[in-house]
Amino acid sequence: AAKASRVGTTVFDKSYDINSSTNLSMASELKNAIAGNQLIMYVQPKIGIATSKLTSLEALVRWKHPEKGFIFPDQFIPFAEQTGYIQLISQWMLNEAARYSQIWNTMNLHYPIAVNISTRDLIDQELPEKINAIFKTYNIDDSSLSLEITESSIMDDPVRALATLDKLSGMNIKLSIDDFGTGYSSLAYLKRLPVNELKIDKSFILKMEQDESDKKIVQSTIDLGHNLGLKVVAEGIENQVVWDLLRKMGCDSGQGYYMSKPMPASDFVSWINLWDS
Ligand code: C2E
Ligand code: CA
Ligand code: CA
Ligand code: CA
Repeated sequence: AAKASRVGTTVFDKSYDINSSTNLSMASELKNAIAGNQLIMYVQPKIGIATSKLTSLEALVRWKHPEKGFIFPDQFIPFAEQTGYIQLISQWMLNEAARYSQIWNTMNLHYPIAVNISTRDLIDQELPEKINAIFKTYNIDDSSLSLEITESSIMDDPVRALATLDKLSGMNIKLSIDDFGTGYSSLAYLKRLPVNELKIDKSFILKMEQDESDKKIVQSTIDLGHNLGLKVVAEGIENQVVWDLLRKMGCDSGQGYYMSKPMPASDFVSWINLWDS
């Protein structure tokens, strides 16, 4: 079986022509994956930079294809977004995050799990009710789940997105702006968003050691976030040099291979026992 890689093999046509044979089979395979237990929820820790304590987790989807092996989200999320399957994936991830949250709560582990959502979820006026139903089903509280939203998904339909975000925020659900710095939204817009957290895109963090202007962008983003009363998270921390830099710069928390790669949610309990010991 071919091993799917992040670069090279194209799992689907970039054109998203739903009538092409590749994409027809992609669509039916994705449907099978969602219905047939081929999706797996991975989690990656977000660590407080001043304390080195785990603060929360990000949920990241993986697809374990029966023949192609592991397929990373970059290979199917764009297709899912174009075709609407993304809403099924988001729903599955929200349920899975809630299910784990309930299990971990019984072990006295209370870490909010952030789920990534897309444009189609955001313009779905029923998203807040769907999330409420999940909280009830698993009997977990509002702080158990949070959402990560990219600037570009908000900008696709800002009016509808803002209405959904206001509802979610009214339900006390924490919201993060993901990939901050890569979109085109204006800063004036940022101040109107009911968000709690900014995530600095990893493209800046990965290069800040070498690139003086990336470092300045990172510092300015931390200051901007703090001035707006937001927590700032850096993603893509791969070594101690960058971790130390971010600590000096006042960044609140971080995510990256230096602390932990994403792991299957089923491995989290052993991970946290080691981390805390
Ligand atoms: P993202 O939300 O920006 O997630 C961060 C990505 O950076 C993850 O890739 C993560 O594994 C990777 N990463 C974490 N630490 C490091 C590091 O130190 N160095 C480097 N080089 N990379 C690091 P992943 O899991 O492959 O996900 C890629 C993207 O796919 C995500 O970017 C997100 O946009 C999307 N995605 C993943 N899961 C979901 C999902 O359940 N729903 C939706 N809508 N999108 C998802
Ligand atoms: Ca994210
Ligand atoms: Ca990100
Ligand atoms: Ca991203």
